[in-house]
Amino acid sequence: MQKLSDIATIRTVLEKNGFRFSKALGQNFLINPSVCPRMAEMSGAADCAGAVEIGPGIGVLTWELSQVARKVVSIELDQRLLPVLAETLADCDNVKIIRADVMQLDLGRMIAEEFGGKEVAVCANLPYYITSPVIMRLLEERLPVTSITVMVQKEAADRLCAHPGERACGAVSAAVWYYAEPEILFGVSRGSFMPAPNVDSAVIRLKIRKTPAVSVTEERFFFRVVKAAFAQRRKTAVNAMANTLGIPKPAVAAAFEAAGISLNARAETLTLEEFAALSDGLGALEKTAQERKKEEIV
Ligand code: SAM
Repeated sequence: MQKLSDIATIRTVLEKNGFRFSKALGQNFLINPSVCPRMAEMSGAADCAGAVEIGPGIGVLTWELSQVARKVVSIELDQRLLPVLAETLADCDNVKIIRADVMQLDLGRMIAEEFGGKEVAVCANLPYYITSPVIMRLLEERLPVTSITVMVQKEAADRLCAHPGERACGAVSAAVWYYAEPEILFGVSRGSFMPAPNVDSAVIRLKIRKTPAVSVTEERFFFRVVKAAFAQRRKTAVNAMANTLGIPKPAVAAAFEAAGISLNARAETLTLEEFAALSDGLGALEKTAQERKKEEIV
């Protein structure tokens, strides 16, 4: 089916199947024919083992991906879309639809089974209600993924791609920069969707780094430190970290001084290198405190 993103075709397909949009599942389907070919091409799916899509809807992006990728595996939660997809993707013999909740599916296993564990590109128009959790899962699980090219709400795009040290940066953007090199590719107006949402969107691409942007002794503690610093944005990072991590303020202040960071700094002014220095400094302190406690008990 060639004209899948043509609004008349979409209406006909949906009406024929008696489909009603679910707001809860973030169902805003693309009706702008220029968006999906660009996303599919820019995803780099042509250069790896294939593409993984989350939420095919009626298959507009899936179809475009099937034209550039060797194989496409698409994960859809809404059972009602399966007969629609069987019809719209009838001529694509390199597409497999998996009916599942992307947050529950074992993605590592799926990529091993479907792509022999080889590197894939992720490309999707994400349901907005799980934008950050899906991206964090894809990054944290260290899957064989080369890049993540996704449509998200404009505000989420700005937040996710904000560079550490910039005002818009938050804990999620710091994590994104740790694992990947993000960029905003292009904006997409709200009128490009059916039904039209209240906000505009943007397509972002996260190119996954082979090694993280900074080296840290304890990765889990590093992310605890980052989250703690952003947990109380109005406070200085020293106060926010002392309050949230439960480490005495003088110890946190000493770690800032040792790293050469101002005690008045706020989370959004800190670079990834500074977060790494703070986490290594505080991690060493925490270890000593824990060892001291153990000795006292013995
Ligand atoms: N790709 C289509 C397009 O661009 O027109 C649809 C995108 S729509 C924004 C999001 C899609 O994700 C819907 O098809 C929805 O049913 C599906 N979805 C929502 N939650 C999901 C989940 N937890 N796991 C898998 N798919 C989900």
